[in-house]
Parts: sequence; structure tokens; C-alpha cells
Amino acid sequence: MQSKLKLLIPGAILTLLALTSIQGYLIYNSYELQRKTYLTDARSAIASVYNSPQIDSTFWIYRNHFLDQLKPFLAGESSKTQLIDGLATKMDEINPAFVNHFASSLKNKDLGLKVNLKIIPSQIVLLDSLGAADTIYLGLPDSDMLLGTPFKAEEGILINNSSWRQDIDRIDANGKYIETLDFRTSVYMSIDNWESAMFRSMLGLFIAVFILLFSVVLLLLYSIKNLIKQKKLADIKTDFINNITHELKTPLSTLAIATKTLAVQNANAPLEQREQTLAIIERQNRRLHKLIDQVLNNSVGYQDLELSKESILCQEFLSNILNDYKLTLDKQVVLAIDIRLKDEHVNGDRFFLGTAIINILNNAVKYGGKQISVTANSEDGFLKIAISDNGIGISDKEKQLVFDKFYRVSQQNKHDYKGLGLGLFYCNQVVKAHYGRIELESKLGKGSTFLLFIPLKKSKS
Ligand code: ADP
Repeated sequence: MQSKLKLLIPGAILTLLALTSIQGYLIYNSYELQRKTYLTDARSAIASVYNSPQIDSTFWIYRNHFLDQLKPFLAGESSKTQLIDGLATKMDEINPAFVNHFASSLKNKDLGLKVNLKIIPSQIVLLDSLGAADTIYLGLPDSDMLLGTPFKAEEGILINNSSWRQDIDRIDANGKYIETLDFRTSVYMSIDNWESAMFRSMLGLFIAVFILLFSVVLLLLYSIKNLIKQKKLADIKTDFINNITHELKTPLSTLAIATKTLAVQNANAPLEQREQTLAIIERQNRRLHKLIDQVLNNSVGYQDLELSKESILCQEFLSNILNDYKLTLDKQVVLAIDIRLKDEHVNGDRFFLGTAIINILNNAVKYGGKQISVTANSEDGFLKIAISDNGIGISDKEKQLVFDKFYRVSQQNKHDYKGLGLGLFYCNQVVKAHYGRIELESKLGKGSTFLLFIPLKKSKS
């Protein structure tokens, strides 16, 4: 079971990681798909606007203007800079109408996001009949000379490169030539708040995936926790069965021997002998009863304890119990009693409270205590009883567990200390039924102190 659990936990974590990666991959894929679909929609919307007669006529305004300006340039009457400045001025002039027309045409396409477009002259070249090129202009993606809305080069997506070619007559001192004008443009688009819009449209998916993964983690944790609990319970049950059979075996085998002896002892056997055997039978019988009672009574939860409460004078109650107990102790065990109480009372059940205290004292002796001390005083409205011993002590890890039903610490040497793991459970239930609490301070190998706090009855004064 332990090794299965050890495999299960890393297995579950690995599966979860795999699941998360698959989910991440699927989300990334659907993001890409959505992006591509949107880009395709945007491209075809732009293409249909771009190819409209109105836009085409806008292009011809600056193209014709450029052709007009080209004549003085070819005749050597103006410079390249003047030619390009003229083109830039014309483009600036027609740009507002272009932007407006583009925006209003695109609005009808219902794209959802705001799409910006810019058309940049990327290369203007004159080619002679031999193919030699005279470059008039080279435009970069972030050039200022444009039609459309300016945006940063890195925000743009190139959607089209087009070329307008026109034969030109060039006349100079040597005669007339035909040259070809190659006017290239690049079209870029950008989409406003692209990332956040994508994120918003996928938010539902993100939330659903997150909730799903979170639920899977919760379910997994819950199952593992349950499994560990079940395993603990199973271990505790096995231990309990082992303990109780061990405890029952001794009186039962003694009883078997005693009854056999009685059977062979005939009526002529001395009375004293027969009485001795009968006394053994009676003792073992009582021991068996006590064991069964212990299991039946001590495993009851505090809500089910039937207490008959009365007003108890703490000082008298404790000294009686402790002094009586002292008489039962072997000589090697020393019990020091220090009761600092006057007329404090608690509302409680004498029998249950007494048994709880004796259980703790029995444990102190059973688990190696030679010096036991009990101090009692009142503290913050509570009767505080501290029972200390210098026995084997309890490790920090086990301290929380010793009050659990059937829990026993010394698994490895359980045969050295007989018990059923019910004593402290019972004490805790009794204290709880009196609205009090029990605390444990202990160091392995040094000893333990059990602190009982029972609420004091409020004095009437
Ligand atoms: P048990 O029948 O085993 O004594 P308890 O419920 O009384 O059952 O105690 C639970 C466990 O707590 C014990 O098995 C023992 O290991 C540990 N324990 C209780 N009292 C002491 C003590 N005074 N010193 C050391 N260990 C103790």
C-alpha cells in the first residue's frame, strides 16, 4: 500500500503536468487558429476595399501628378529631392480623403477590431532599354511618405506588394528614348489592441480551462488525502486487532488452565487448593470484563458520554484521587502532589474526570515514569492540572496523534507496553465533554506533561 501510494503521487503529478501541457498546447493552437482566421478575414476585407474604383481613382491622382513632375526631372529641370518632395506633398494632400474612404468602407465589413492600413512607395526606379536602373527613391516600412494611417513598422503585417509600370519618353541632347518607370508599393496593415482583443475573446476558454484544471487538482488532492486516511485507518484497525487479541489471549489461556485444573481436582482435593483455582478463574474473568468494558466505554465520542454533573470542590476531589493513587504505586515510583487550590469548583462528573486523570497517571507509570508530579491551580477561569513524568516521552510528530482513537506510538516495541490506544482518546473526550481542553508537552527520551484545562464554576460573589 505504502509503495503504491509512493507511485501514485508522482504518477498523479506527472499526469497533471501532461494534462496542463496538452491544455496549453490546445489553447495556443486555438489562439493561432483564431489569429489566422481573423487575419484572413481582415485581408479579404482590405482587398475588396483596396480594389474598389474609388481607391483606384485616388491612386491615379498621385500617379498622374507624379508623371507630370517626372517630365521636368527627366529634362534636368528639377532634382530627385524635388520630385520626391512633390510626391510626398501630393500624398499628404489626398491622404485624409483616402483614410476616410477606407475607414467607412471597412466599417461595413464588420471586422470587430479597428484595422489600419498604410501604402508605402517602396521603390521608384527608371529602367532604360538595356535594363540599367536609375533609382529615384527607396522607401522603408516605417517611411513617412504614405497613404493611410502611420504605425510602427513592427506592428505592421505586410499584405501586398504591387508594381505599377509605365513607359516614359525621355528626350535629351542625344535624342529620344523610351524608359520604363517601375513604381512599387507595399501595403501593410495593423490591428489596434490586437493582443488584448484576442485575450478577451479567449477569456472564457482560459477561465473554463483554469476551473477544470483546478477541479482536477482538488479532486486529486482529495483522493490522495482520503487514500492516506484510509490507509491509516486500516493500519490502526490491524494494530487494534493485534493488541486486543494479545490482551485477550493471556486471561483466556489462564482460564483454560484453571478450568482444566479444576476438572482434575476431585472433591477430595484440599479446599484451599480448589479455592485458589476458583480465585484465579474469578480474577481472569474480571480482567476479561474490564477489557471488554474498556473497549465499549472508552471508545465513545464526547457527544455520547452520559455525564451526571455536579458541583465538585476541586481541591478535595483531586487530593482524594491522588492520595488513593499514591497508595497503589510501587516503591520505585515517586508521585509529588502540589495542589494550589482553595474553594474552586467545577461542574463535572466525578467518575469520568477521575478515570481520565487516572488514565494519564497510569500512562505516566506505564511509559517509564519514575518521578511523577501533579500540580493543580486555577488559571484564567480554568482548573489547570499538569501531570508530568520523566518517562520515554513522545516525538513531536506523534504528539498530535496520540489522542486519536486506537492510536499507539510505540509500534516497534508495543509488546513492552500493553494497551489498546484508547486511554488518551477517552481522556480527550471526557475533557471536551466538560468544555475543556487537553494539551501535551513532551520530548522524546525526556518525559511528558499532560495539561488538563477544565472551566471553573463562576463564584456567586
Ligand atoms: P495505550 O493503551 O497505548 O496506552 P493511550 O491512548 O493511553 O493508549 O496512549 C496512546 C499512546 O500515547 C501510547 O501508545 C503511548 O505510545 C503514548 N503515550 C501516552 N502516554 C504517554 C506517556 N506518559 N509517555 C510516553 N508516551 C505516552
